[in-house]
Amino acid sequence: MPVRDEAAQLADQIAELRHAIHREPEIGLQLPKTQRKVLDALDGLPLEISTGQGLSSVTAVLRGGQPGPVVLLRGDMDALPVTEETGLPYASTIPGVMHACGHDLHTAMLAGAARLLSARQAELPGTVIFMFQPGEEGYAGARQMIGEGVLEAAGPRPVAAYGLHVTSNRLPCGTFSTRPGPMLAAADQITVTVHGRGGHASQPHLAADPIPATCEMVLALQTMVTRKFDVFDPVVITVGSLHAGTIDNVIGDQARFLATARSYSTRSRNALAELVPELIRDIAAAHGLGVDVEYKAEYPVTVNDAAEAAFAGETIAAVFGPERGETAQFPITGAEDFSFVLEEVPGAFVFLGACPPDRDPVTAPTNHSAVATFDDLALAEGTALYAELALRRLAQG
Ligand SMILES: [Zn+2]
Ligand SMILES: [Zn+2]
Repeated sequence: MPVRDEAAQLADQIAELRHAIHREPEIGLQLPKTQRKVLDALDGLPLEISTGQGLSSVTAVLRGGQPGPVVLLRGDMDALPVTEETGLPYASTIPGVMHACGHDLHTAMLAGAARLLSARQAELPGTVIFMFQPGEEGYAGARQMIGEGVLEAAGPRPVAAYGLHVTSNRLPCGTFSTRPGPMLAAADQITVTVHGRGGHASQPHLAADPIPATCEMVLALQTMVTRKFDVFDPVVITVGSLHAGTIDNVIGDQARFLATARSYSTRSRNALAELVPELIRDIAAAHGLGVDVEYKAEYPVTVNDAAEAAFAGETIAAVFGPERGETAQFPITGAEDFSFVLEEVPGAFVFLGACPPDRDPVTAPTNHSAVATFDDLALAEGTALYAELALRRLAQG
């Protein structure tokens, strides 16, 4: 029976696991309840299972009956600090925590793929590592799992790695999207504190007002984006938080802002890390103010290997039909810590549409929204793709 049909037969079981994870979402690197559910779902399968030291990850290794290479499949497991407002029957029961990015689907699909591939163990030409990862949403859980040896879990390193991500909008349900090269942006954080000298608002010449200089910095960053960077290697800087002062007639001592910087190449990313602090310091100096500026690297660019992205596209076309896959014209400005895996192993990251069929993908709420919903219809398809990517890649040797 084709893998896709077997995945369809498992659909109810996969949905049941997904709903259980969705009801009890957990944030960050410690997800003991989610880990327990994954371990229960894998129980009885012919897998070598290990769990994380510094995080509640699960690494499962399936050794096939035939010799061959190693392939890694990754699913992230963590939720977000969002209060769910979907009204779904399996909505979160934990106030302030929601699987708003669909990682509950990834976890359930990866467990489903482990079941499908385990049933084919005897004829499997090589080894599959299933990487169940906590802490994608800002905790760099993938980097930590690499540090704890997930890439060496089977002995030799994987020849290829694949990650899936569902999306509640953009793509019709059950369609896939990937591309060669940059797939998601690098994300870095800029923290700036401008130090002035407080005083009476009516006599600014006797004080050192940090606010006008801070406003110049915010605008100068936008000018810098357009004057210092190649338009075909874009960057985005957004000041998402800015705080200064208390009341109209007082000049405060300091102003503070936080910004995110997104880029798609090492060149632009390195330039940002150099130019942003320089610009901020120079503006502060021009106004006779002190400043602390920190440029913190968060996630690197998620770069798909060209051959692996093409292979993923061919697999999608062969399994589901060519109309179900697209080559994305542009990368996404979001970021992903699967980027750390793709820095070590060639591979591909693939988006899977999970927009409910009764919603328009163009206007449907985005991932991270309190009303984002991801349809169960995507579960069997994602499970089948995980399994097919592993089977077909191992067969290539
Ligand atoms: Zn997310
Ligand atoms: Zn996500």
